[in-house]
Amino acid sequence: MELSKMGLSISPSSTLAIDAKAKKMKAEGIDVIGFGAGEPDFDTPEHIKKAAIAAIEAGFTKYTPASGIMELKQAICKKFKKDNGLDYTPAQIVVSNGAKHSLINTFQAICNPGDEVIIPAPYWVSYPEMVKIAGGVPVIVKTSEQSGFKFTVDQLQQALTKKTKAIILNSPSNPTGMVYSKEELTEIADLAVERGVFVVSDEIYEKLIYDGYQHVSIASLNDKIKEQTIVVNGVSKTYAMTGWRIGYTASNNEIAKIMANIQSHATSNPNSIAQKAAEAAICGNQDMINTMVAEFISRRDYMVKRINAIPGLSCVTPKGAFYVLMNISKLIGKAIEGKQIYGSDDFADVLLEKAQVALVPGSGFGIDTHVRLSYATSLKNITEGLNRIANLLNKQQ
Ligand code: PLP
Repeated sequence: MELSKMGLSISPSSTLAIDAKAKKMKAEGIDVIGFGAGEPDFDTPEHIKKAAIAAIEAGFTKYTPASGIMELKQAICKKFKKDNGLDYTPAQIVVSNGAKHSLINTFQAICNPGDEVIIPAPYWVSYPEMVKIAGGVPVIVKTSEQSGFKFTVDQLQQALTKKTKAIILNSPSNPTGMVYSKEELTEIADLAVERGVFVVSDEIYEKLIYDGYQHVSIASLNDKIKEQTIVVNGVSKTYAMTGWRIGYTASNNEIAKIMANIQSHATSNPNSIAQKAAEAAICGNQDMINTMVAEFISRRDYMVKRINAIPGLSCVTPKGAFYVLMNISKLIGKAIEGKQIYGSDDFADVLLEKAQVALVPGSGFGIDTHVRLSYATSLKNITEGLNRIANLLNKQQ
């Protein structure tokens, strides 16, 4: 019997695949150093856990309104005002099961079959697949290390067609750590308004930003672009709450309503207890963010310095998130431990097999000359992992 063509066209998440492989090796007793993590290695703060426990004890364990509870939506509105200078009403907020779910809802709300969505590469693995799930067509615009992994307005102009429905922005970016400036966002916003295309702005790494860089939400630039932007955010990365599964969107009323309707049939409300925890996270003490940021900066600095000292490898310094995109292009076409390296998948395989180091091949991010290392792991692990990479590559000299 014929199965769904759309379903068959979806590839598995490469970030989750490498993680699964590394975990399996660990379970077999092999000492693997994992650079695959897509989540902070910090614990969810105590006051957030307590809010969840209090919710359970108070019997807050039933269905809630499908698009989220009013108190959480109000807290999110306050956050947008305080952090981003954006005015939204609770009716414009949809709370979902993680930012991943918010993004899926977004594309389902805006795409018709054949609509094109522009995705700058390197991109987060899920974007093209999410667009396809919604019946859209991903249009990849390649960026390079030389341009700081940012696309130019000229590139955007060339990629725009009559079928373009939206552009995806992800700043700070996974996997590059790149951050767009206000000036760059203004140029993009002007073009989006002129051409009447939506901007899907994934701001999940908003708070993990370094070296004095400021996060600017493109929606805050003017009312016109705000009307055309769907801002995606969540508590996963900021509050070390990946397992709680709370993400949210802010958009115009019409889009919010469509998303809420879709969600009401697909999942109903996000977990009631996690919503209470998210409210406590957004309204409560924010000190842990500073602790996390300080720790990420020192790990990043160490990682970048070590990588750039290993012959054949290099990287640029990321300005946000917790990933380093390592350039392996000098090793492509060469052999490591007798295995020919044709691209990032081969490199990741050799490292896992011969050095017991797990990292994510860039192929899934649309950049086969690079691999992604997460520094959401202890400095001890980072040191040991980089020692192993250096030793393996030194043997080849
Ligand atoms: N957007 C980006 C760029 C991400 O890296 C991730 C998680 O890795 C998400 C969205 C999804 O976050 P959540 O855990 O809230 O679904």
